[in-house]
Amino acid sequence: MWGDYRQCHIYPHITIFAEILTGHGCFGKYLHQIAGREPSPQCHECGVLQDTAFHTLVECAAWGPQRALLENVVGPVSSLRSMVEAMLQGQQSWLAVSSFCESVLAQKEAAERVREEDANADPIRRRRTGGRRRRYANLLP
Ligand SMILES: [Zn+2]
Repeated sequence: MWGDYRQCHIYPHITIFAEILTGHGCFGKYLHQIAGREPSPQCHECGVLQDTAFHTLVECAAWGPQRALLENVVGPVSSLRSMVEAMLQGQQSWLAVSSFCESVLAQKEAAERVREEDANADPIRRRRTGGRRRRYANLLP
């Protein structure tokens, strides 16, 4: 209906939409409660107590300029459901929603990496590269 699916750039966005719809992504509540990688579920951008997919994409003032660009194309976005419905209105809306989500999540992930790499970071926040290997090595005589 929108022509070749590859021109709709659907593929690179599937994981992003999965993160948004399940909330299992770079959101404070998930990182804190489920992944155990953040000392609190707080939003690093605005300080609200619970950072969720809804908070990031619909509420957080830090992403206001990006959200304004999106709303110019699809109209007011008041819920994750309205965002998904907007995506399905056509190719232009799809691209507006996906580029909004992609730019916000890319910036959140970049900021998360900076926090992980900070030498003074809370230990639970650090990247766990090779942890199992190191623990195993410690068991060797
Ligand atoms: Zn926020």
